Amino acid sequence: MTYEGSCLCGAIAYAVHGEIGDPVMCHCRSCRKASGSAYATNAPVAVTDLRLLRGERCLREYESSPGKLRAFCSTCGTPLYVRWPDNPALVRLRLGTLDTPLGKKPVAHTFATSRADWDVIADALPQYEAREPGR
Ligand SMILES: [Zn+2]
Ligand SMILES: [Zn+2]
Repeated sequence: MTYEGSCLCGAIAYAVHGEIGDPVMCHCRSCRKASGSAYATNAPVAVTDLRLLRGERCLREYESSPGKLRAFCSTCGTPLYVRWPDNPALVRLRLGTLDTPLGKKPVAHTFATSRADWDVIADALPQYEAREPGR
């Protein structure tokens, strides 16, 4: 499988040559802040499958909590992925940046109890207090 994605201004583009894992909708405080919205929809991708096609000079990282780096475009602010230097095999990709269809649906809500009071979860997917089990 090959997927492609980019930031809002187009300076950064990437490809994923491999599988994108199960998407979750994360309502935690830092995903709300980083997305400027109710939640972030993320999925795991193997670092070895992720290729930056262009825009490395625009890529910045913000350490939102110790050991957790949020990569974003310094021109347009689009959040692209999260990575953990202590767990270098994996990133969590921001699925809103994909330009190709994903072909699968989210499987759960995470940090559901941290959601904003105006955030209505209107589907029947499992809701977890923190991360999904098994992570
Ligand atoms: Zn950009
Ligand atoms: Zn989160």
